[in-house]
Amino acid sequence: MAQRDALEVVYSCAACQSEAAKIVLFVSTELPQAYAGQALKRSFATLISADVCGKVSISVPRASYNTTAATLMRAVSGTDAMAGAKYTRSFCPTCQLCYCEEHWRIAEHVESGGWYDKTIGTCPKGHRHILDD
Ligand SMILES: [Zn+2]
Ligand SMILES: [Zn+2]
Repeated sequence: MAQRDALEVVYSCAACQSEAAKIVLFVSTELPQAYAGQALKRSFATLISADVCGKVSISVPRASYNTTAATLMRAVSGTDAMAGAKYTRSFCPTCQLCYCEEHWRIAEHVESGGWYDKTIGTCPKGHRHILDD
């Protein structure tokens, strides 16, 4: 795979087939315009996940870039549609499936003092997971 190209994978909701999450992986020096300001400066590559908890950028060091890219390529090629879904917060590890905002029941927990603590989601099958903290 040419490292110049951003690698993009979309995961659909297992319940309604609408978009549940999108992952974009790119080498940081080639930051696409749309993502300007998102990348962590010192990382070799950046993975952006747009999912049920919003958008997050994850720093991917050079040492794990090839593994991460290969995992996502399995999803792109259809060999393993869910490969890489664990990088998103739309993924239920019990079901091994992704769900959209409408199908996760999402509750944000706030500590006393108003600080954001964590987001707990319940998937359509009733599995409770911490989606974000
Ligand atoms: Zn859905
Ligand atoms: Zn589940």
